[in-house]
Amino acid sequence: TVTVGVLALQGDVREHVHALESVGARAVPVRRQRELDAVDALVIPGGESTTIDKLLRAFELFEPVQQRLRSGLPAYGSCAGMILLADRVLGGIEGQQTLGGVDVTVRRNAFGRQVESFETDLDIAGVDGSVHGVFIRAPWVEEVGPGATVLARVESGPAAGRIVAVRQGPLLVTSFHPEVTGDTRVHQLFVEIVRESL
Ligand code: GLN
Repeated sequence: TVTVGVLALQGDVREHVHALESVGARAVPVRRQRELDAVDALVIPGGESTTIDKLLRAFELFEPVQQRLRSGLPAYGSCAGMILLADRVLGGIEGQQTLGGVDVTVRRNAFGRQVESFETDLDIAGVDGSVHGVFIRAPWVEEVGPGATVLARVESGPAAGRIVAVRQGPLLVTSFHPEVTGDTRVHQLFVEIVRESL
C-alpha cells in the first residue's frame, strides 16, 4: 500500500483522510518534517491558502515540502491546495507565497459573488463518467504552461470553459472538493498516479 500524507495545518484534512482510506491508501496527517519524510505522496486540502502558507512557514515545513516536490513527490491539491501547488497566483494577499510545481496561473476566489459556491457535473480526463464538482470560493486556472495538461473545464453556466483540473507529471490539482462528496474517483486517480511514480 502507498502512504499518503495529508498536510494537516488547516482545512478539510479529515475528509481527505477518509477518501484516501476508502481507495486503499494509508493516510496520515503531516504536521512535522519527520512525518513528511515518511510519506510517498502528499495531499494539500481545501481551506484557506493564505493561512496554510503562513502555517507552512511557522511549522518550518515550507522549504521541506518544496524540496520534496522538486524531487518528484506526487501531490494532489484541492481548492486552496491547488493555489499552493500553482507556480503563479492572481488575487493573492500581500506576501502570499506558493509552493509551486504546476506550471499554471490560478486566480483566487475567481468565480465571483453570484457563484461563490456552486456545484456542477464535470468530465475529467482519466475518470470514467461524470463527477459532481463542489466549488467553495474556488480558484480557477487562468493560464496553463506547456508542461501542464488540462483535465477538466466547467461545461455550462456563467463559468463555462474555465479550467478546473490540471495535471503535471505526479502533480494533480482541482478547483473543486471531491473529498466532500463521498465520490472517491479523483482520489483513486491520484493514488494510481502515486503508484505509477513509485
Ligand atoms: N478561497 C480559498 C483560498 O483562497 C480557497 C477556498 C477553499 O479551499 N475552499 O485559499
